[in-house]
Amino acid sequence: MSVPAVPEHLGDHELEDSELAELWHSLCVELLDEEFSRRTHGSPRTYDAGCRGPMCTKGMRLRARRRTTGGANERYTYIDPILDHWCKVAYERIEAAKARILEQVIA
Ligand SMILES: [Zn+2]
Repeated sequence: MSVPAVPEHLGDHELEDSELAELWHSLCVELLDEEFSRRTHGSPRTYDAGCRGPMCTKGMRLRARRRTTGGANERYTYIDPILDHWCKVAYERIEAAKARILEQVIA
């Protein structure tokens, strides 16, 4: 799947194209992982079940941050909003792809 654009309202993110491509790829791998297909990514329970994708590691990071007084790593202040947006994009694309496959199977 091609890397989606980063919406302008998210502002400057200072990430290289290669970093964005890697982030998108690892997000797609996470969301398509059959082992966790019935779980919610970003939930600490899914992380505890073994998922180490970007949504689940983000969920753990945010949970850890709430327990400490440490501030956010600056890098993640860019990455997290992009991930939240891309997660919706990825699920939409996955659903559209599933629908296309179903049409072919039924046809
Ligand atoms: Zn996950």
